[in-house]
Amino acid sequence: MRELTAKEIDAMCSKHLQAFLGDSHPKYAPIDIDKFLREYLDINVCYRKLSSRGEILGLSIFSDMSLKVWKDDKRVEEAFPKKTVIIDESLLEEKQFGRCNYTKAHEAVHGIINGECPSDIVLCYRRGKATTDYERIVDRAASKLLLPDETVRTVFYIFIGANHIVRLNPLYNFKNYERFCDMARYLRVSKKALSIRLLQLGLVEKVDYERPHEFLDIYCEV
Ligand SMILES: [Zn+2]
Repeated sequence: MRELTAKEIDAMCSKHLQAFLGDSHPKYAPIDIDKFLREYLDINVCYRKLSSRGEILGLSIFSDMSLKVWKDDKRVEEAFPKKTVIIDESLLEEKQFGRCNYTKAHEAVHGIINGECPSDIVLCYRRGKATTDYERIVDRAASKLLLPDETVRTVFYIFIGANHIVRLNPLYNFKNYERFCDMARYLRVSKKALSIRLLQLGLVEKVDYERPHEFLDIYCEV
């Protein structure tokens, strides 16, 4: 069986997100990924310690099966019903909200693919970074699921008050950087995930808030 293309997966996700949101969902409202998983995709979400050092962030189960998870520093076998997403419990910490939601969105994409093409099962052990092309495609679709074009454009305008800014850098424009941080908190995503979407949509030209002084170095050289 051939693997689905990025375009096909994007189209599937967008169709399901639209069906979940309906016509009354305000354009500025964040996507409730928990509700999408539980109520729309009918997928149970639970939290366990998945690996000794937290390297596995999430996984999806498509048929009844037993898995080894960690409990009190011991690996124990636990049975899970089909249609379950397990998120590593370390992502329950408040500061991890962005990673947690992104991992749920990633698993939701697997759930959508499994619903549409049950034979296209890929057992996902999501780590911090995608290790295959297929996982990268799922990651990309996950970011669009969590941050749809229209939502990002609308929220950007509300928070920034413009359709476009030149750069995201606290030393270049601290106010815009603060608003960007507020925007990420409001949308319940990480700054990294949001900045990638802002670049993709052409709302920001350059993102260098992680190395803000580079901007000053260039300025001083001129
Ligand atoms: Zn995956």
